[in-house]
Amino acid sequence: MHQPPVPHVASTDPEIAELINAEARRQFEKIRMIPSENYVSVAVLEAAGTVLTNKYSEGYPGRRYYEGQQFIDPLEKLAADRAQALFGVDHANVQPYSGSPANLAVYLAFLAPGDTVMGMSLPMGGHLSHGWPVSVTGKWFRSVQYGVRADTGRVDMDEVSDLAHRERPRVIYCGGTAIPRTIDFPAFAEIAADTGALLVADIAHIAGLIAGGAHPSPAGYAPVITTTTHKTLRGPRGAMIMSTAEHAAALDKAVFPGLQGGPHNHTTAAIAVALREAARPEFRAYAHQVVANAKALAAALIERGFDLVSGGTDNHLILIDLTAKGIAGKPAAKALDRAGLETNYNTVPFDPRKPFDPSGLRIGTPALTTRGLTEQHMPQVATWMDEAVSAALKEDEAAIGRIAGEVRDLLAGFPMVGWAPGS
Ligand SMILES: *Cc1c(COP(=O)(O)O)cnc(C)c1O
Repeated sequence: MHQPPVPHVASTDPEIAELINAEARRQFEKIRMIPSENYVSVAVLEAAGTVLTNKYSEGYPGRRYYEGQQFIDPLEKLAADRAQALFGVDHANVQPYSGSPANLAVYLAFLAPGDTVMGMSLPMGGHLSHGWPVSVTGKWFRSVQYGVRADTGRVDMDEVSDLAHRERPRVIYCGGTAIPRTIDFPAFAEIAADTGALLVADIAHIAGLIAGGAHPSPAGYAPVITTTTHKTLRGPRGAMIMSTAEHAAALDKAVFPGLQGGPHNHTTAAIAVALREAARPEFRAYAHQVVANAKALAAALIERGFDLVSGGTDNHLILIDLTAKGIAGKPAAKALDRAGLETNYNTVPFDPRKPFDPSGLRIGTPALTTRGLTEQHMPQVATWMDEAVSAALKEDEAAIGRIAGEVRDLLAGFPMVGWAPGS
């Protein structure tokens, strides 16, 4: 049963209701370890499912192009105020539809086509929107990319510095999608200052850890900060751009009218709710538990012979190089999924294999932490992962089915926010 319930979907559109139910059950029965995913609270679900979706509000509070903003204006202002207080920034724009458009708005605000942008390359752990060639950010801008050191698996700050001094990018992006270690915001800030670049911290993955005090904050180092709201921050799908007062007007103009039309007010409401939740002591406990779980899982995986990029983790994310296990990322991820352990295959730095069939596996602990699992469960999770990978190599579907059953049995004792089996 869904919470909030969805009886009208069931009667109006049984086909869609069935798929929604099947997805909810899937989320209930699997240990979800994709590091960009989570379970949002019922309050966030409720806010996102309201009649606020009916309203158009192009513009910003007090400066709209449509009438009837008596309640949307204070709502958007509350969301922005909460973001500013939580992250300690002068300004927050809560309108970007998602993380990629938020980054595109940054390009529109500060770069002209052909200008140089520097970011971490995708196969090294960056994001598409940090200048990867297939992305508009790599096609319409001149992109120079840094990576990690081969010996440590950590961001190569010497390369960042050399590249910035040589290429003189207008904008430097730090942050990414597969970085298991703390991002050194002060070091990036120094390089940006030395080379006259604008530093943008994309904290999409770690926003919840920063809000909860489990990762250092870029505030005071990066004048512009972009983030999604749906990863560790545990809000609805959406994004925010935060900045110093100096850059507020340029960023607002880039989001609207530069890139987007009307904001998604139901999402704004849900973001506001998530930000209020993130300011609570329980959220701090969650953020620290996410990291404690990731460290415990990393240690247990190493004990079972898994090779972790950079040798471990400081945050919510673990990147595994499966080469030593004699299996590629994709068949491993597929077998793990059948075993009730949801992960995603991923490139590892200097991967000799192709991106659609890479050597690695990316996992993380935000969703399983929200579900209520703690350090004591991590050795069992690592054992299941090891057994599932061995079973995949031996094509032992019976063993994989046995693990899926054990995972279901464990999770039956951990209620899922938003859905419960039965009725
Ligand atoms: C997830 C992510 C994004 C993109 O977010 P979408 O909402 O999927 O567009 C951008 N940057 C980083 C670092 C991310 O991890």
